[in-house]
Amino acid sequence: MLIVDIHAHMDFDEYKDDLDKVIEDNKKAGVRVIINNGVGVKSNRRVLELAKKHDIIKPALGIYPVQCVEMSEEEFSREIDFISKQDIVAIGEVGLDYKKGDDNPYGDAYKRKMKRCFEEFISLAEKKSVPLIVHSRKAELDVIEMLESSNPGEGRIIMHCFMGRKHLVKRILDNGWGMSIPCIVNKLQQLQLIVEQAPMEQLLTETDSPYLSPYPDTKRNEPRFIVEALKKIAEIKKLNVEEVSKMIYMNYQRIF
Ligand SMILES: [Zn+2]
Repeated sequence: MLIVDIHAHMDFDEYKDDLDKVIEDNKKAGVRVIINNGVGVKSNRRVLELAKKHDIIKPALGIYPVQCVEMSEEEFSREIDFISKQDIVAIGEVGLDYKKGDDNPYGDAYKRKMKRCFEEFISLAEKKSVPLIVHSRKAELDVIEMLESSNPGEGRIIMHCFMGRKHLVKRILDNGWGMSIPCIVNKLQQLQLIVEQAPMEQLLTETDSPYLSPYPDTKRNEPRFIVEALKKIAEIKKLNVEEVSKMIYMNYQRIF
């Protein structure tokens, strides 16, 4: 089995006591790549450290959209400058998140600032010619429109755990962008419909570890649990699990 996790946070505290063992267990289970997405200033440095230490961890750097809004302009541009100088496989985790909606403490300026930050990351991905791993929550249309009006990473855009509506999924697929499917596809019909809609060539897998475990009795997620996503994709696409894991590994190699 070849397992690829293009969106995980192994730098989070949930792994601080046993990360070495987790990495060993995951390697044994067939995990070949974990793209660790940074979410902020401290996280980005930790991601680079982990990538140096563990060969299967590849660094992606970014700032979680909600966190961007809380940073000063100066802090933000200092971090963009830092990221621009690093050797990374992708920009992520970045995007838009309107979960706080209109009752956020920042008013209209909230969305405007978040969009400005996302724009910076889009042009950074363009400059560095690396793929962009995108988070969008309650902001799907804005995200798609911003990405359509630019061309980061030569079109290598991956929507992470996308939960938007069917016509937006179609628009993403028509643009040729990738859809990264989390383990919880084993229980969420909305994600199963995306797998049905998407050609195999546009599918990738992820965990968002430590979040979104596919097992009700195991709270902390791990990249090896992607086997649940592979099983579900195989069932929907009427292929066998080994085949699916190889196809997704090939997609990973082509995109990154
Ligand atoms: Zn994430």
